[in-house]
This record gives sequence, C-alpha cells and structure tokens, in this order.
Amino acid sequence: MKKIFDEDVIYKFEPDMEPVSQIEPGELVEFETRDCFSGQIKDEEKTMEEIDMSKSNPATGPLKVKGAEPGDFLKVDILDITLPDWGVTAIAPGEGVLGDKIDTAETVIPEIRGDVCYFDGVKISLNPMVGIIGVAPEEETFSSWSQGRHGGNLDTVDICKGSSVYLPVKQDGGLLALGDCHGSMGDGEVCVTGLEISSDVLTRVDIVDGPGIDWPVVSKEDKLAVMCSSGTVDEAIEKSVSSAVEILSENRDLEYEKAYMISSLSVDFRISQVVNPKVTVRASIPKEILDAESIFD
Ligand code: CA
Ligand code: CA
Repeated sequence: MKKIFDEDVIYKFEPDMEPVSQIEPGELVEFETRDCFSGQIKDEEKTMEEIDMSKSNPATGPLKVKGAEPGDFLKVDILDITLPDWGVTAIAPGEGVLGDKIDTAETVIPEIRGDVCYFDGVKISLNPMVGIIGVAPEEETFSSWSQGRHGGNLDTVDICKGSSVYLPVKQDGGLLALGDCHGSMGDGEVCVTGLEISSDVLTRVDIVDGPGIDWPVVSKEDKLAVMCSSGTVDEAIEKSVSSAVEILSENRDLEYEKAYMISSLSVDFRISQVVNPKVTVRASIPKEILDAESIFD
C-alpha cells in the first residue's frame, strides 16, 4: 500500500502541479491529512483570527495515477476515515451564514468518543467525511478553499466511508489531492467549520470511463450525486438540475423534456455547503432510475 504523508500538502489546485507520488490504477493509497487549520488550533484559547490562514485548508498530494488521461475519470473509493479523539469547531466575525451577528471569534474543542462527539454537553452523532478532494484543473488555478469541475472544497457529507468519488481528469495522471476531513457536519456547514479533524484516509484509486458530464460525482449506497458549484445557490441549483437532466437523457436515451420531468419526480437537490467561495449543490439521483448500477465503467 502507498502512503502519502501530511508534509506533502497543497493549498492550490493548479493545472501543472508536480506529483509527490505515483501509483498503478487500482492500488490502495492512504492519505495522511491535516485538519483545516494545519493543526494550529489545539485548545479553546486559540481562535481562527490568531493563526496563519495561508496554512488553512491543506490537501495531501498530489498523486499521479499512471495512464490517466483527459476524458477519463478517477474513481476514488473511500475505504476508511480514521478518527482522532478530538476535533475543532470555530467561528469568527464575518464568517459563515450569520457572520454579521458574531462579535468575537470563538473555538470549541469537542471530545470524540466512539461514534459521537460531546460539544458543551450536547452529544452529536458523527458522520466522518472528506471535505476537500480534487484533481488538477484544466486551465484555471483554484485555491484549496474553492471548488469547481475539478472538485476541491466540496464539503459534501456523502463523501464518506463506503462511497466512491468520480473526478473528471483534465491533466495526464489526474493529480489527486484530498484533506479537510470532518468528524461531523450538517448539510450547509453554516458556521464555516465542521468538526475539523486530522485523519488517515484509506482509498483505492482507479481509472474509469464516464458519461459526458464534467462535474464530480459521488456514489453512495443507492444514490449517485452530481456536485455542482457556482457563485449563488440559485446558480448551483440550475447547474445541478441541468446535470441530472443530461445524465438521465444520455443514460436512458430520453428526450430532454422527459428527462426534466423525471428529475422533478425523483431527483433530490441538496445543499452541500454554502460557506465557501462558491456554493455546492448536489443532484442526488436514485440508481433505480438509471440503466445500470453505475454510469461509470
Ligand atoms: Ca471545507
Ligand atoms: Ca473544514
């Protein structure tokens, strides 16, 4: 098994990133990830305003997958996400949905025990997930805070143990990086942080053919979700509805109008996050209405 350690991190997804490691398709890879503050907050005395934010949102990698070419998809099976015994949740004035109501920055260090955490005596069930996962973009450079067709800071709760993430390859080798794990997060991630943790993420990374869709997709249990990002919730919803209609049209050989109507009957449009530079909305398509269990080979 290949392991990539957390000294190899990026803060930008760039078209011409240099890989730190390479694998044959289908190999197991473990990514050691830092938390979103690069470990700079370890106690409740330290706030987001007192740390070096240029070291925030590190993603471990990039990993080259031999033979991956533009037009392919990288398939990343998330096999395990280890949990530490604590995490960080932080707020600061101006950050998150209600940032204008927050006067002072504050940090809480919830304790993790088993599959729950304790936040000021409130017991919260965990849903460990990977916040940042992406490949080298086509032309533009993206901060690791942001997101797009290459993936990035998607903050989508479905990217969890047992799921598979499909990323459209734009550069030879794909160049995969991931990080920013959360012990728990609700759809929206409204205050700007989840339960931020460092973790080891065990994956299997392969190359597959996919449909003519140019956004990241996550397959979890009986749903396939296309994750679309844009400047506003309205725009992100429109992009995700369009993507669902395109997938259904292609997969079931349907007219555009019929695929649109079927989307209305059975596809869930869910908010992934609303606090990053772009908003991410996912179109969650039941696999039972698709022609195969997966639209990827
Ligand atoms: Ca994030
Ligand atoms: Ca985070």
